[in-house]
Amino acid sequence: MGDFPLSRLTHAGLGDLAEKLDAGVRLDLADGVRLFGSRDVLAVGWLANRERERRHGRRTYFNYNIRLEATNVCVASCLFCSFARLKPGDPGAYTMSLEEAWDKLRRRSHQPLTEVHVVNGLHPDLPFEYYTELLRGFKRIRPEVHLKCFTAVEIAFFADLYGMSDEQVLRELMAAGLDSLPGGGAEIFAERVRRKIAHDKCGTERYLDIHRVAHRLGLRSNVTMLYGHIETAEERVDHMLRARRLQDETGGFQAFIPLAFHPDNNQMRQLPAPSATDTLQVHAVARLMLDNIAHVKAFWIATGVEVAQTALWFGVDDLDGTVQEEKIYHMAGARTPEAMTTREIARLIRAAGREPVERDTLYNEVRSAQVVW
Ligand code: SF4
Repeated sequence: MGDFPLSRLTHAGLGDLAEKLDAGVRLDLADGVRLFGSRDVLAVGWLANRERERRHGRRTYFNYNIRLEATNVCVASCLFCSFARLKPGDPGAYTMSLEEAWDKLRRRSHQPLTEVHVVNGLHPDLPFEYYTELLRGFKRIRPEVHLKCFTAVEIAFFADLYGMSDEQVLRELMAAGLDSLPGGGAEIFAERVRRKIAHDKCGTERYLDIHRVAHRLGLRSNVTMLYGHIETAEERVDHMLRARRLQDETGGFQAFIPLAFHPDNNQMRQLPAPSATDTLQVHAVARLMLDNIAHVKAFWIATGVEVAQTALWFGVDDLDGTVQEEKIYHMAGARTPEAMTTREIARLIRAAGREPVERDTLYNEVRSAQVVW
């Protein structure tokens, strides 16, 4: 992007924020709200891109993963969810047998994937052994594959259902092969919104505490934010700041992942989907507020491939993975493909003027930009 005229930043009302960033002073709630209020999205993007390039230069990460949702039966009733079916036997409800789930990995024995990402509905009747066996089976099939499984919401649900502490659940899952936690289930931390859109699953404090415990036990994790529904700019920034505070304490978050709300087939279908501009601004503000989280990821399944590509100039340095067989967003109307090959992802990163780097879940380099995909 080169140098951005100071006069333009000043005109956008962001000159003092640029100075704060230059001086290494942290942005606060009011600063974040002003960034969201700015109508000069290019100025906000330029500031975010500067922070992105300070950390990562042109490097842009992605990984080779599969995503698996073993069941969509769920006792919760989040208003934005198009994936869950409340009871076993409801039309569209499914629960994979362990063999079916393992088969998804077995059938890919020829693929050099590095991660299996599992998230599920909150199934009231499965035994805990279903989950520990699921992990053990994956490790038997591919011992080297990283298992990033179960959101904090699922961990809380397991603890309550099976009469264990959150820490016990985490320890048992780790003993079975769990390597890290995904960031799902964060939605919006502000209680006003959470009460309305996700009233019957684990609350904000418990979500954050489960990540705190996980980090103490040596697991890394991510943190997400569902945006573009009924939340205010202030609630978005508050969400980012709560993640930032925990990160100050533990340092265990690897990436912040904004997730675009999709309005099809759920109870909030009267709302419009977030615009591309809003998506770019959310990722940019996240990069600027979260000075202590290394990566900001655009989940291309949710944003759309073209917007994700553009976001690489708005603070984003990670495009998630190849993501085969994604269901959660496609049941909410996403028209993106369900999977891209590493070659396709690398090509779209290059086309955006960035350098593709295939990483593993912990951001170790698997293949670098030097490799011709
Ligand atoms: S978002 Fe998760 S917890 Fe909420 S209803 Fe859907 S599957 Fe269940």
